[in-house]
Amino acid sequence: MSTTLELPAVNDSVREFVRREKKLFIGGKWVNSVSGKTFPVFDPATGEKLCVVPEGGPEDVEAAVSAARQALERWRETAPAQRAELIWRLGDKISEHAEELAQIEALNVGKPVYEALMGDVPGAADHFHYYAGWPTKWTGETLNLSFPGKVLAYTRREPVGVVAAIVPWNFPLMILSWKLAPALAAGNTVIIKPASYTPLSALRLVELAEEVGFPSGVINIVTGPGSTVGMALAEHKGVNKVSFTGSTETGREIMRAAAGNFKRLSLELGGKTANIIFPDADMGMAVGGAFMGIFMNQGEVCVAGSRLFVPKAHFDEVISALTERASEINQGPGVDPTVTMGPLISKSHMDRVMSYIEKGKAEGAELVLGGETNPAAGPGYFVKPTIFVGRDDMTIAREEIFGPVLTALPFEDIDDVVRRANASPYGLGAAVWTKDVAKGIEVAHRLEAGSVWVNGFGIMDSSGAWGGFKESGMGREMGRYAMEAFTEVKFVGVNLG
Ligand code: NAD
Repeated sequence: MSTTLELPAVNDSVREFVRREKKLFIGGKWVNSVSGKTFPVFDPATGEKLCVVPEGGPEDVEAAVSAARQALERWRETAPAQRAELIWRLGDKISEHAEELAQIEALNVGKPVYEALMGDVPGAADHFHYYAGWPTKWTGETLNLSFPGKVLAYTRREPVGVVAAIVPWNFPLMILSWKLAPALAAGNTVIIKPASYTPLSALRLVELAEEVGFPSGVINIVTGPGSTVGMALAEHKGVNKVSFTGSTETGREIMRAAAGNFKRLSLELGGKTANIIFPDADMGMAVGGAFMGIFMNQGEVCVAGSRLFVPKAHFDEVISALTERASEINQGPGVDPTVTMGPLISKSHMDRVMSYIEKGKAEGAELVLGGETNPAAGPGYFVKPTIFVGRDDMTIAREEIFGPVLTALPFEDIDDVVRRANASPYGLGAAVWTKDVAKGIEVAHRLEAGSVWVNGFGIMDSSGAWGGFKESGMGREMGRYAMEAFTEVKFVGVNLG
């Protein structure tokens, strides 16, 4: 059997990149890990090894922190227009290499290549282009003090310092760009720690950043396990901020580890998004949103609309339309352009998702579609799109599954559905479907979530705001919020006599 890498859909440049020796990038040099150890990276569609990458350890983190600290003074003093130009050019590089990066992402994550080409890659490029606009406009204020005497008082926006960007495996390139672009724009230096399953697009991005000409030490990458490399970064006194996206559980560990030097933290964590269809919704549009909300990226989405609230009066209509669409999903390797759903990231994640499906069945949820693995799609980790009708107290309606598993829940009135939607420790996203926009806005304001969409799903933009309420995290990415999160405010008071 041929490997995915040999499929005609994979470009030569991708094959060449995947086969090339991988190194860490520290202080402007590509180096092996101090231990010389490596770890394998797999193709989730086949379970086969794609390549190996260096397994960084605490010594490599030490070297990266030292390089990033050294580079900090020069980078923060680099003229804003110059910083802006480099950041803009990295956005251009991503656009120029769009197809290659989309294929790397499809190969390594398993996601459909068209999703990467339409979402991940342009989303990443857009973040660099957007944040290239900020360095020249990011300023403090002059203040009117009541302090006695003549005083000139003002604030400055200074970089936090050395930032560790710890990234998950579901959107490795795009989520990295949410961190890297604003961190650089604000004058910070960065150490990237990709997820061990999916380090490839980040390594390619750093190669592109090198071509653009960022000064040595401004961008560094250390691949390796979260428990060693990630933890060493979270504990290191020379790291001023951790910008983390990942599970709520790991977020807690990082928070504890970061306490040593009161690191600044941005934590983008898990979710259990409520997607609410009101009886007066455009049902075609709402079903399309529900479909995309749960099945995009194999459901491996922090904001996956995994709790679908459907009015009792429209329940059968909505579920049968959704089931019909989901039955047409074509599962296979993400690099195949005809594929509309790829594999899950790993065997252990597939087992985890299947254990949730088994719990759903055991707790009495009605299985409408799927509910099993799909070996016909390939030797990798395929789970069929799955639809349950359930109750709020079931495990599948409460916990984050991170797979293509929907729980549909009937409801009768607004107050009931708002209360039930909010009855979750998570608060990342929510969506509301109604032709009555005033009602949509009212409900949006009552929902406890960092992002709420009315008559849409996944409306996101570099100029927006992204983050969670409650246990979905703290801090915000995107827009001016990320610039604030990557800077310290300094007050300067000058006695003019
Ligand atoms: P994860 O928490 O297992 O890993 C995320 C990153 O943290 C990886 O790079 C990992 O190596 C590293 N890590 C693991 N343990 C660590 C430790 N002890 N110290 C420091 N770093 C450590 O998450 P994942 O499985 O890669 O991603 C899935 C999770 O991410 C889901 O819960 C999902 O909801 C969440 N997520 C959230 C958002 C968001 O924007 N809120 C976006 C995507 C994913």
